Amino acid sequence: MATISKVIKADLEKIFGEKVVFNHPLSKITTLGIGGGAQYFISAQHKEDIIRAIHFAKKHFIPHYLIGGASNIVANDKGIFGIVIQNSLQTLQINAEKQICYVGAGHPLLSLVHALNRHGLSGMEKMAGIPGTIGGAIYGCAGAYGQEIKNCLERVKIFDGEKTRWITKSQCRFGYRTSIFKQRKNRIILEAEFQFTSADPKSLKKISRDIIKIRAKKYPPDLKCPGSFFKNIVIDAIRPVALKKQFLSKIDLQKINHGKLASGYLLEQIGAKGQKRGDIAVAEYHGNLIYNTGNGKSKDVKKLANLLKKKVQKKFGIILEEEIQYL
Ligand SMILES: Cc1cc2nc3c(=O)[nH]c(=O)nc-3n(C[C@H](O)[C@H](O)[C@H](O)COP(=O)(O)OP(=O)(O)OC[C@H]3O[C@@H](n4cnc5c(N)ncnc54)[C@H](O)[C@@H]3O)c2cc1C
Repeated sequence: MATISKVIKADLEKIFGEKVVFNHPLSKITTLGIGGGAQYFISAQHKEDIIRAIHFAKKHFIPHYLIGGASNIVANDKGIFGIVIQNSLQTLQINAEKQICYVGAGHPLLSLVHALNRHGLSGMEKMAGIPGTIGGAIYGCAGAYGQEIKNCLERVKIFDGEKTRWITKSQCRFGYRTSIFKQRKNRIILEAEFQFTSADPKSLKKISRDIIKIRAKKYPPDLKCPGSFFKNIVIDAIRPVALKKQFLSKIDLQKINHGKLASGYLLEQIGAKGQKRGDIAVAEYHGNLIYNTGNGKSKDVKKLANLLKKKVQKKFGIILEEEIQYL
């Protein structure tokens, strides 16, 4: 457990009151149910909280980290030294007539989808069931069933460590499960503007409902996991060309879908399903689903993930990339 400085504690309590907690167990908030204590944990309900926390961390030379719903995170068992800021900016403004929406980055994605469906605004209904916040979804360019967060996004309000400003969608440099925010960790997403199209609320609600039902089979509600562990393989991104050729000769080409190969397929080929390290296991029904069977540890997640990566590399010559973020 991290030592709490009395001076820092007093200063933080003065600024943040009840919003700051000390040695807060991250295992209680990550969907994987793993993680030691965050030395200083702040639940930020206003953008000023985030800005103040970052300025405070810089002034005191303390590392700081931002999280949203903690649904894509593997947090260290040993805990996190520094300030962990949880983004809880939940503002929501929907203008159904103009089909525009402004949403705080800490707003839960699912709750936004439900609100949009009620207003008859289409563009995110197939993303129903992805856990986490809007900020987390933008960070990782989340998506499902052919819809991605970037599709209807117009611009994003960020704090870059010095000032707040809007950046355009193209400045976000979205790609498959990636964005500029993965490279520029100092850019904090505060708010987003979306533009949707109109549709019948009833059919939107049905689409979301059906998708949630399908998803519940892969991700039962009590499953402790961070979603898909590894990114799928974008075939055209495999370099050099010789490696791509060799790779394609080793796989069933029928498995390529819209230019991507599910990493779950490769993981199945190396016998990942059902493998275990401590209380961490690969699902018997899905090679790319790593979950916590009870009292899992981040060190076992890493061990298992690294073993799987090595086996895939040995058999197929390519290195799987984690979709999850280690904290
Ligand atoms: C059961 C289950 C199913 C899932 N299914 C899908 C799926 O179908 N598709 C999919 O794409 N993902 C899926 N995921 C993964 C996850 O839900 C998404 O990646 C989600 O968008 C993460 O959001 P979050 O708020 O939880 O982010 P967190 O896990 O809290 O954070 C993830 C990363 O984003 C950064 N971040 C978070 N908020 C901000 C912000 N405001 N500004 C800057 N950086 C920020 C964090 O620093 C961290 O590096 C699934 C996860 C689970 C548990």
